[in-house]
Amino acid sequence: MKRLGIIGGGQLARMMALAAPPLGLEVRFLDPSSSACAGDISTGIRAGYGDPEALDELADWAEVVTFEFENVPAASVERLAAKLPAYPPAGALGTAQDRLREKNLFRDLGIGVAPFAAVDSLEGLRLAVADVGLPAVLKTRTEGYDGKGQAVLRTAADLEPAWERLGGVPLILEGFVNYSREISIIGVRTRDGAMCFYPISENTHRDGILHLAVCRASDPMQEEAQACLRKIAEALDYVGVLTLELFEMDGQLLANEIAPRVHNSGHWTIEGAETSQFENHLRAVLDLPLGATDPVGESAMVNFIGRVPAAEAVLAIPGAHLHDYQKEARTGRKVGHVTLRAGSPEALAERIAAAEALLQDG
Ligand code: AMP
Repeated sequence: MKRLGIIGGGQLARMMALAAPPLGLEVRFLDPSSSACAGDISTGIRAGYGDPEALDELADWAEVVTFEFENVPAASVERLAAKLPAYPPAGALGTAQDRLREKNLFRDLGIGVAPFAAVDSLEGLRLAVADVGLPAVLKTRTEGYDGKGQAVLRTAADLEPAWERLGGVPLILEGFVNYSREISIIGVRTRDGAMCFYPISENTHRDGILHLAVCRASDPMQEEAQACLRKIAEALDYVGVLTLELFEMDGQLLANEIAPRVHNSGHWTIEGAETSQFENHLRAVLDLPLGATDPVGESAMVNFIGRVPAAEAVLAIPGAHLHDYQKEARTGRKVGHVTLRAGSPEALAERIAAAEALLQDG
């Protein structure tokens, strides 16, 4: 069997590990938690993501390594890359970890972005607001996720409280985008530069956390979104699955951020695409040919946040496929999802409504 090491042992590592055995692949992951949910189906090394001895242990065992989320230190990926193939590349991870680097890359590549400016002081915030205008969103440059580390500024009176709350670390101010929808495009790139793209996902958030992702086959924005993602992947000399989140406003696309990994908005691909994003990520990092990304009928994904409804109720919905990550229930935590498949958009909408109704129960 081939041996793949994964930094991180959360649900993304778990779903990669579930895709691994058919490819003749054994997985070992590195995670500081004793209850990492990838541990139900693969072996873990319990240590911090930056622990040099643990990284070396993983490198000695594995033939290829990857990571499952972007708060892994880029230096850990560099350390591994000195010894064995490690994908996606550390440089792409470093860019995705810093919203300012990300936005500069988008702009340099001619990709549309909301106006933005770096902010390092309260005075700098005032200057940035003069430049970008209000309303605007102030964000930490690093370590923000699911809407954390952000403040919306609507009037001049909002500046000081937002600085008090977020200041002290490097920040970025972005113009507020009055978007008509949020979408993501997921692509996968091989070591020799071949790329495949999934259909766009149309994404709805609740409390800053992804709630619903709907596969939009034949979306009018597909080609433009794909072209943006291709430019970014080529600039980063990327290998593996790469996700680009975009806003659509007045028929235009504005890039928000990249995720150098498999992505929550692509979980529908497990049952809703010819080849899942997890399998294609593994194929890419292993230097195997990519699988087709065509959708299989209509599909969508509803996240389970905080708790997973009873399996009996979820699976009573026609076309439903349950994914319970076996994580401890906790408010605001992603603990599972359901993929819904259907033969028509109308049937899909009914099934999404049925899944959403379960979130209200209990
Ligand atoms: P992010 O962490 O950048 O993905 O932001 C989390 C959520 O906040 C996004 O999914 C949007 O709903 C919202 N958001 C982020 N940036 C902006 C912006 N510049 N304008 C409007 N809404 C935003």
